[in-house]
Amino acid sequence: MPSLNQIRQTFLDYFAKNDHEIVSSSSLVPHNDPTLMFTNAGMVQFKNVFTGAETRPYKRATTSQKVVRAGGKHNDLDNVGYTARHHTFFEMLGNFSFGDYFKEQAISHAWNLITKEYGLPKDRLLATVYIDDDEAFNLWKKIAGFSDDRIIRIAGSDNFWSMGDTGPCGPCTEIFYDHGEHIWGGPPGSPEEDGDRFVEIWNLVFMQFDQQTDGTRLNLPKPSIDTGMGLERVAAVLQGVHNNYDVDLFKALIRASVEETGVKAEGEALPSHRVIADHLRSTSFLIADGVTPSNEGRGYVLRRIMRRAMRHAYLLGANEPLMPRLAPVLVREMGDHYGELKRAEATIIETLRQEEERFRRTLGRGMTLLDEATANLKDGDMLEGEVAFKLYDTYGFPLDLTQDAIRAKGLSVNVAGFEAAMGEQKQRGRANWKGSGETSVQAEWFSIRDQAGASEFVGYEHLSTQSHAR
Ligand code: ATP
Ligand code: MG
Ligand code: MG
Ligand code: MG
Repeated sequence: MPSLNQIRQTFLDYFAKNDHEIVSSSSLVPHNDPTLMFTNAGMVQFKNVFTGAETRPYKRATTSQKVVRAGGKHNDLDNVGYTARHHTFFEMLGNFSFGDYFKEQAISHAWNLITKEYGLPKDRLLATVYIDDDEAFNLWKKIAGFSDDRIIRIAGSDNFWSMGDTGPCGPCTEIFYDHGEHIWGGPPGSPEEDGDRFVEIWNLVFMQFDQQTDGTRLNLPKPSIDTGMGLERVAAVLQGVHNNYDVDLFKALIRASVEETGVKAEGEALPSHRVIADHLRSTSFLIADGVTPSNEGRGYVLRRIMRRAMRHAYLLGANEPLMPRLAPVLVREMGDHYGELKRAEATIIETLRQEEERFRRTLGRGMTLLDEATANLKDGDMLEGEVAFKLYDTYGFPLDLTQDAIRAKGLSVNVAGFEAAMGEQKQRGRANWKGSGETSVQAEWFSIRDQAGASEFVGYEHLSTQSHAR
């Protein structure tokens, strides 16, 4: 059975063999794009190459890109622990053509790789295409021999990918794997598509346009290709498991978490171990790329992810910081491919240790307050905004952590009440200014912005994240 590391290598080797330059992953902090919170797709480092603003000595490239999707409109944070296929950090395998090959070769490369190199059975695969993309539809028939019912036409944004409100965009075609009827879920476009039975493994974008601020689309200098495949998802398929958290790498991380806490990965503890393993990866990689926990911007997203994991460590009964003790296992598992993890190991451990020690000073009391405040609430009820604010302000609970903590009971936070409490405190703060301790206006707005969605948020433009759904 191929390991995650081998599956990554097979991908890169395949495209290298087909004249693609192997390019290293760029940083999770997108230095070429101040509008973007974190690198959230493989094409981010090539954005200006697609538009023609930048040229490279190669016309074809392949990468295994570090990606974080935890904040803003494109936010998978709340999926982690609940779906079989989402992480906050994952590796996106990609191949790119900058004005070189287009639809036909992109589809035939993808098909060759998954069916010949990876050996996936054809009868488990299906494809979606953009509603009027007859060309892609016919190419799938020709190259894969799919019958019409295995090529699904989709009208929505899932099959028209755009980098954000502006920038390179175009129709796309996506490859899905059917994990089998014992798992709930339906094919794309069906009412049950939210399930995990049909899992999207690869998105091939036909980059054709450059969207302008006024919404018009100009043609790119040359039609190009941008693809993204989730390494962990294809690894699950190739290792014969359904859940991403059952692939070899995650098994190793979860095993370490079980050993350190003495709590088996089953029942209620299972999602906690999974969340911890996932968040260990995103936080360690963010720290390795120079992000430090803080109360604003990227640092606040990092802090929010760390603290969510730390709450789960607390639920498992860990009585000392857990995350710093797991970090060496991650470095051992992934450090050969991502040398920055090895180089930053000491910093990662120290940052995790300081944050967990700090949060643990208030975490227990905050959890007690939360338990008391929710004891008499029932499914569908709302937690008072003032309580959520007190948890935030006094106990260092980011709003989304509180929401996550009570979600399993079917409860939600009264966000309007939370905002009102925040507003009142700001008034008091203005009247009687004396340093702001844990809170910061940006952090407040950032969490509110996450609630409201990027489109309703107008302040702090430098904090805004790329919005794309594909
Ligand atoms: P989904 O619909 O399952 O949320 P997506 O359409 O948002 O996925 P894309 O933006 O098309 O994903 O990204 C390209 C590929 O990256 C996907 O086909 C999938 O294999 C992988 N991927 C996307 N989001 C995640 C995630 N949160 N964790 C792991 N892999 C992911
Ligand atoms: Mg998604
Ligand atoms: Mg997609
Ligand atoms: Mg999708």
